[in-house]
Amino acid sequence: QTGRTLSEDEWTALIEGRTPDLADRLFAQARAARDEAYGRAVYLRGLIELTNFCKNDCLYCGIRKSNRQARRYRMSVDEVLACCTQGYAQGLRTFVLQGGEDPWFAQDKIVAMVRSIRRQHPDCAITLSLGEWPHDAYAAFRAAGADRFLLRHETADDGHYAMLHPTSMSPDRRKTCLFDLRRLGYQVGSGFMVGSPGQTARHLARDLAFLKELNPHMIGIGPFVPHRHTAFRDEPAGSADLTLFLIGCLRLMLPRALIPATTALNSVDAQGRMRGLAAGANVLMPNLTPPQYRGSYDLYNGKATSGLEGVENIARLRRQLEEAGYQVPLARGDSAVAVERA
Ligand code: SAM
Repeated sequence: QTGRTLSEDEWTALIEGRTPDLADRLFAQARAARDEAYGRAVYLRGLIELTNFCKNDCLYCGIRKSNRQARRYRMSVDEVLACCTQGYAQGLRTFVLQGGEDPWFAQDKIVAMVRSIRRQHPDCAITLSLGEWPHDAYAAFRAAGADRFLLRHETADDGHYAMLHPTSMSPDRRKTCLFDLRRLGYQVGSGFMVGSPGQTARHLARDLAFLKELNPHMIGIGPFVPHRHTAFRDEPAGSADLTLFLIGCLRLMLPRALIPATTALNSVDAQGRMRGLAAGANVLMPNLTPPQYRGSYDLYNGKATSGLEGVENIARLRRQLEEAGYQVPLARGDSAVAVERA
């Protein structure tokens, strides 16, 4: 259960030399490792995209601050609470609050919001995905009742990071945030985009090596998909096959991690959800964002927001999963990776 790992050279050679046959063998081993760690459970998380205002300018992202064409919105705390109530009634026991880095949502507002959700749903996990904050802010969110935090490192290669982000953003600060979160006793999620502009197999090998070192509780990866109002509009989207292959690698390297089949994977491949699970993933994140805002959390072209992606179809999603031999527990679904003592 400690997981196998390779050197950067070996990961690079494996990624460059992958074949469909090798992928199938990898997926069979990955499924066995997942089943050993978690059984056949697939955990559902309700995703609430609470604001698309952002002070950052990540070059790939549709809600970057320089995109003047984005239709900006932010949800009120009452709207967020109503989403949680709706999700709870549908059997969800984890709420993921995600957003751009919106200065309006200052530390005290987030603390108050987390406290309200915690009071209303003591049996649920609260996951935040709200970007980079000082250590003390993360500590305040944790004290208010947040259990988990998602912050992708995006790319572990500093040169590649600089190519994807403005100079005001720093890869070291992002990594410091991840280690702060871990020390504060959060279940921590990290991850990266697959096929982002300029990415090589060597960069991906570094991503895997970094994740092995971080040993996160959750790992989210998904293909890069271009957005029409960014400088990367003409870049090709990342490959679903490579994303699936990397999910398999991650499952073998870190068998106890929770790994979602992400919306981005599903947006480039109509079968992405089930193929992701067949490659070793064990989490899905139905969208709980109210319909009037959903289309505006527009990170990339063709983002899937309806069908089985939406919480309104959760009963159908459950049926499909059960027919495929998975169980969908009514539970928080905490990570099997040990949490550091705060
Ligand atoms: N602001 C928070 C943060 O930085 O972690 C959370 C929101 S951010 C929009 C969530 C994730 O969206 C990022 O970590 C990034 O990997 C992903 N993302 C942004 N633009 C994307 C694109 N064009 N294609 C695929 N994923 C993208």
